[in-house]
Amino acid sequence: MKELKEKILKFGNPINENVLKVDSFINHQVDANLMNLIGKEFAEYYKDRNITKVVTIESSGIAPATFTALHLNVPLVIMKKTTSKVLSDDLVQATITSYTKGTTFELTMSKKFVNKDDNVVVIDDFLANGQAAMGAIKLVEKMGANVESIGILIEKSFQPGRKELIDAGYEVYSLARIKRMSKGEVEFEE
Ligand code: 5GP
Repeated sequence: MKELKEKILKFGNPINENVLKVDSFINHQVDANLMNLIGKEFAEYYKDRNITKVVTIESSGIAPATFTALHLNVPLVIMKKTTSKVLSDDLVQATITSYTKGTTFELTMSKKFVNKDDNVVVIDDFLANGQAAMGAIKLVEKMGANVESIGILIEKSFQPGRKELIDAGYEVYSLARIKRMSKGEVEFEE
């Protein structure tokens, strides 16, 4: 997606070969116009796929996922990150290791908001090793729902997430795919 790639080139900050900071337009300060365009782009791509719910992970996925849900005219469900191991009967959980922090948390969702009749698209800001997406998929599938696709804003295609998801049988639709990065430089896939 042209507009997202332009923002990455202008405002993205690769702090090393592996981590891109996007805090001026995606996950700290938010460019609402860009999020709206991203939502439209995902909604256009998924429009004939009978999506019933958009699912995301707090907090960076919320902005793009909200606009995607708006343009698809379906509810958004936000999975929570908690460190509590206590699992109540009305919750489902999966253990995830955070890519950026290296810490472990429980991805948590209420059983109330996804059910076996749902056809879900999972939206997240980054795809690195695929842990977050795999955790989200696990929770959606625990509820008997179908994961139609994974929608990603920025895929670092030199990391293994895409292959993990594709090998497990899922579709990945990424708006920007980064081939390699170094301090101050970003190169996209063709
Ligand atoms: P994964 O679970 O695929 O290894 O990592 C995805 C999650 O880690 C995303 O939800 C995102 O919040 C975070 N993440 C991964 N790589 C980056 C990065 O380069 N920059 C930022 N800001 N977050 C990242």
